[in-house]
Amino acid sequence: MHDFSFTLLPQKVIFGAGAADQLPQALDSFGWRRVLLVTTGSARRSGRAARVEALLGQRLAATFDQTQPHVPAEQVEQALALARDRGVEAILGLGGGSAIGLAKAVSHALEAQTSLASPAPAPQPRVPVAAIPTTYAGSEMTPVYGVTRPEAGGSRKVTVADQRVAPRLVLYDPGLTLDLPPDLTASTGVNALAHCVEAVYSITRHPLSTAAAQAGAGLIVRALPRCVLHGDDLDARSEMLAGAHLAGLSLSSVAMGLHHGLCHVLGGSAGVPHGIANAIILPHAMRFNLDAATPHLAALAEAMGLRAEARDPAGLAAASVERVAALVAGLNLPRRLRDVGVPAADLPRLAQLALQSRAVLSNPRPVGVEDAEHVLRAAW
Ligand code: NAD
Repeated sequence: MHDFSFTLLPQKVIFGAGAADQLPQALDSFGWRRVLLVTTGSARRSGRAARVEALLGQRLAATFDQTQPHVPAEQVEQALALARDRGVEAILGLGGGSAIGLAKAVSHALEAQTSLASPAPAPQPRVPVAAIPTTYAGSEMTPVYGVTRPEAGGSRKVTVADQRVAPRLVLYDPGLTLDLPPDLTASTGVNALAHCVEAVYSITRHPLSTAAAQAGAGLIVRALPRCVLHGDDLDARSEMLAGAHLAGLSLSSVAMGLHHGLCHVLGGSAGVPHGIANAIILPHAMRFNLDAATPHLAALAEAMGLRAEARDPAGLAAASVERVAALVAGLNLPRRLRDVGVPAADLPRLAQLALQSRAVLSNPRPVGVEDAEHVLRAAW
């Protein structure tokens, strides 16, 4: 057992089919009367935004429904102006990691202004965040968000961590995920699985994060293929969302590793959708970490239902990688970086950028720039 230390976030979580209907009472229990809804065009087109607006009723102060992937910095400014103009008391992110990330970014920007005026940062933000996730990305459980800023010759995604912006209220309603299309189901589902994988071997893991990650991985490997094949299977959607919740819970208190560092660079600097980057990179990052994380990956294999008999820990750990690789291969997602428009000539630059990532520096096996490039080439 290694030493550990972590902070448990104060979050109220409500999970279940129809949980979204509890939104009005839940908001009232926190005393939040003027809410900014942050969501996407797809939520508007599908009717999900209108349904949540109806639930908000008079508590709805404004809606920002133009969230773009990877949260471009100018969107933070636009949503912030709306929040200021309407004097909102809470920000509700409805959607995937981008909408929830934008909600956090706005709360943080509002907080930065007040914190400048007060001598010490308050434990709770002035304008807190609530979340209704409709993908499996897990942002609703974490204090982290990313914003993408233009940079000479391209753009770069910068990650910010502040416990005050972790959603105080999270409503998980599997009914809202029934129309998540197969490709987004698959790619954001692999993102959730990647949180479990990198949590089990994280250098800052602790017993609770390991338990959550192992249980989450078990649910995800069973439920994800069913959700992709039969999107309207409420039981499968519920298991998958519970797995994604456990994945997000494990992610929230431990450092991620090489896999996440590479995915952030591929998203922020090569425009690869986050879930797709996850699906392409995960087996390669696991192979890179195999020797450094053998007992953790062996335990993960068992959590995913692989039988320990007749296998030594190294064999079992290797089997965990092949289990994940086979799962991803069966999901009909792009398999290689070349298939998603990343030019081979870009790999050295992306590897250099990855080395600036906190996640890469926290990987259980030390990563040099040649290693990062090697993993990217294997995935190309
Ligand atoms: P996303 O939020 O960018 O959403 C992708 C697309 O899915 C959008 O067009 C969205 O409108 C659509 N969508 C969402 N729910 C839907 C539904 N139920 N039905 C139909 N369409 C739906 O993608 P994501 O993978 O959820 O999130 C990725 C972003 O979140 C990245 O920026 C990533 O860095 C970040 N992220 C952050 C954390 C964290 O801890 N902070 C964790 C994971 C991901």
